[in-house]
Amino acid sequence: MTDDDFRESFNFFINDVPPEQLAREKAKARELRQSQWWKRKRSSGECAYCHESYPPRELTMDHIVPLVRGGKTVKSNVVPCCKDCNSKKKHMLPIEWEEYMSRLDEASDS
Ligand SMILES: [Zn+2]
Repeated sequence: MTDDDFRESFNFFINDVPPEQLAREKAKARELRQSQWWKRKRSSGECAYCHESYPPRELTMDHIVPLVRGGKTVKSNVVPCCKDCNSKKKHMLPIEWEEYMSRLDEASDS
């Protein structure tokens, strides 16, 4: 494996997002968190991932496609999520998170 190959396979997991873009999207997220839209969305008290109920103020805003991977702060990319799911998701690779989600789905089907 050459150095280039190595970098290539690494890039599959980590996109280069310019710091300006990251800062812009983070600022948008701060604004969106103050919006009526978000407050309404969060007021259901349901985590978008595990579907458990929580007091709304305990739900955090999660970017489905993380900002560091090129995700944007748009309504279709943010969901309310509990602290548990948030910290689990942060430490998983996307593929691991998908597996985790499909396990949750199977569990709720049965
Ligand atoms: Zn959850």
